[in-house]
Amino acid sequence: MNIFLYNTMYRELREFKPLKDEEAGMYACGPTVYNYAHVGNLRTYIFEDILRRTLAYAGYRVTHVMNVTDVGHLTDDQDDGEDKMLKSSRETGMSVWDIAEYYTKAFFKDTTRLNILDPHVVCRATEHIDDMIELVKRLEKRGHTYEAGGNIYFSIDTFDQYGRMANLNLEDLQSGARIEVDQNKRNPKDFVLWFTKSKFENQVMLWDSPWGKGYPGWHLECSAMSMKYLGEQFDIHCGGTDHISVHHTNEIAQSEAATGKKWVRYWCHGEFLLDDTGKMSKSKGEFLTLDLLIKHGFDPLDYRYFCLGAHYRSQLRFSFQALEQAKTSRNNLAARIAELKKDQVEAADTLDAPAQAYVDRFEAHAAKDLNMPRSLSELWGLVRDSSIAPAQRLAGCYRMDLILGLSLKDIAPAGEELLDEESASLIAEREEARKDKDFAKADTIRDILQKRGIDIKDTPSGTVWRKRV
Ligand code: AMP
Ligand code: ZN
Repeated sequence: MNIFLYNTMYRELREFKPLKDEEAGMYACGPTVYNYAHVGNLRTYIFEDILRRTLAYAGYRVTHVMNVTDVGHLTDDQDDGEDKMLKSSRETGMSVWDIAEYYTKAFFKDTTRLNILDPHVVCRATEHIDDMIELVKRLEKRGHTYEAGGNIYFSIDTFDQYGRMANLNLEDLQSGARIEVDQNKRNPKDFVLWFTKSKFENQVMLWDSPWGKGYPGWHLECSAMSMKYLGEQFDIHCGGTDHISVHHTNEIAQSEAATGKKWVRYWCHGEFLLDDTGKMSKSKGEFLTLDLLIKHGFDPLDYRYFCLGAHYRSQLRFSFQALEQAKTSRNNLAARIAELKKDQVEAADTLDAPAQAYVDRFEAHAAKDLNMPRSLSELWGLVRDSSIAPAQRLAGCYRMDLILGLSLKDIAPAGEELLDEESASLIAEREEARKDKDFAKADTIRDILQKRGIDIKDTPSGTVWRKRV
């Protein structure tokens, strides 16, 4: 399976050829943990999950690395505004460390419910301050930094290729500079590597450094941590399109300036999810979180299905009506799969030619820049094709689900007996106990259910049960 990915650096589809045979290293910019993720953020993580699953499906040994930003991200990406963590701390009265812990957990709870596979390495910025300091030292040695007003800046004029990926025109940058530019900057696009003179008197996250007590600039962490876990050159770096012009542009500058080598081979960016206001934002009151969708009666996988219906490089407009349609389609799909599983039908071990033909087309669409809308229609074609035996159709669907991640295996067969009321309430009680982390109680209830002849399994979308025959 030859995979083609749209590479933002060259603005074209390019065949994926990894640095090391059969291995793929990918780095994804992770969440800034000062608040819940909104569903726009989650769309980007779903796209990255599809990318990872497609690489694995094609036989690559994938190493997926993701950072957690728990320090240094200001409300403006270009060194302006307030530290997002501090702002959240001021607003909630919680310590910055507790906020980071709380929202990191909330983030992974969301991703698990969306069937997003956990990265192989999750690295927190606050646990890699030494790596960041080392990187600044390298940049300093090579003459890419200057000190001004107590902070250490990266000088973009020392790096020839600055802004190449974003097609930035540096002359425009100078003249079109924003009104309020940090007066310490020699060039308005220079960026802070290390803050020693905190703008915020109550900054509590501070570390010793050769330049004084302070904290890192936001862009630094992704360069330092990706190189630590994937090497000074690696295959894929991804994130949302908003990161192209500042964050990734600065990451490239500082990484390549430090090593003198080309850094990343494929830059993949997911387009935005838009809401009624146009741009999705966390700043105004209640915003669109996964929990909010669940509160409205949706399953997290309805949202995953909704995202699969659009190509990752197209903008997607969110509405509850559109989500409702995705839910209906997913329910219909589940009903079809349940029907195929009726009467104890199990998936076939090998695919015959007609089922394989659907899988082949599915793979071709996935391999061509992750075209999930077309891949999904092959799944539907196979599910509906009554000329193919149910066991074959199931096997093909399970194969496709390795990339789609819709938990098709967990769907109960049609016609299965309904659960009696008492067992149903025991399952509900057990789910509550699990939510409260009362695992002893959850285990006791599991034993009771087992004695009643009911096996249960915990899946990202809830507990599924099956009566023993
Ligand atoms: P953040 O937590 O703000 O650093 O963002 C996490 C990820 O979500 C990044 O990869 C962003 O590029 C991405 N992102 C932010 N807003 C959106 C949106 N509305 N739609 C899709 N992705 C987004
Ligand atoms: Zn990043």
